[in-house]
Amino acid sequence: MDAGLVAPCEPPSAAPEVPGVKPHPLPKTVAPLPDELLSGWLSRLAAANYCDDAELLAHLRIDTAHGTALDFNVDAAAAAKIANAARINPDVVRSLTFPAMTPREASLTAQMPFQHCMQCAREGLSLRHWRRAWAFDCQVCGTRLVQTLGKLREEQISGKLIYRARRGAEMLECAARSRGPKQLRRAMRAVTFAMSLKTFRGDPSFAVQNPRSEVRLFCLAAIAAARSHPLAKAAIVSKSIDDYARVALLRAFEKEPRLLAAVDHIAQRCARNRGPMTAVSHN
Ligand SMILES: [Zn+2]
Repeated sequence: MDAGLVAPCEPPSAAPEVPGVKPHPLPKTVAPLPDELLSGWLSRLAAANYCDDAELLAHLRIDTAHGTALDFNVDAAAAAKIANAARINPDVVRSLTFPAMTPREASLTAQMPFQHCMQCAREGLSLRHWRRAWAFDCQVCGTRLVQTLGKLREEQISGKLIYRARRGAEMLECAARSRGPKQLRRAMRAVTFAMSLKTFRGDPSFAVQNPRSEVRLFCLAAIAAARSHPLAKAAIVSKSIDDYARVALLRAFEKEPRLLAAVDHIAQRCARNRGPMTAVSHN
């Protein structure tokens, strides 16, 4: 259904269909802004022309209903169609997608939006850096990015957690951009551990791009905690450690026998320090 479009998109019947040549330019165009993501700009272009994203893409004869599918890879034909319709250079269209990334950067760049800046989103913006797992504050206006889903209301998130998570995010960026894999491995180990405490399963790289703030902030904070207290982070990030968490903890370190022994020792000491009451509660 493209009834919402203002411009008729049927080519005149006399004109032969030339492969690669696209529909008429749209009545209105909008200029892309710095760091704007292709899908976000297409949404603004659609809104300027009184239609929605799917209608715009159908009008452009691009075979996808979601602009986000083009953010990582827009082929030459699609770029040409969009450029023609919006009356801009195809190179500008391509510049709105993600550039080539290292595998490490790619694993920490979300395919779908998971956080946004409330301030800029109100203006209809969707920016590229918001997709990075390490992005924490909006680079345009400085507002803290918020997750798109979440049980926690903003005012329920403690300042301390935000402070730690922001530091963890900075470390994650360094790790993602460092030459060797060591830093990132260390960061992901901390995330794996935090995930186990939150009983969140899956790949650690997905946990730090999770649309739920209670998962993402906790995992980022764990990266910062792991830096200052590599082994005792258990005690720092968790209020109490139960048997389930202990098992998860051991699993997080199972491939590193030396660390496993040290962590196991700490976990047992934590359990002892909490005294017999806890032990009774488990029976
Ligand atoms: Zn912003």
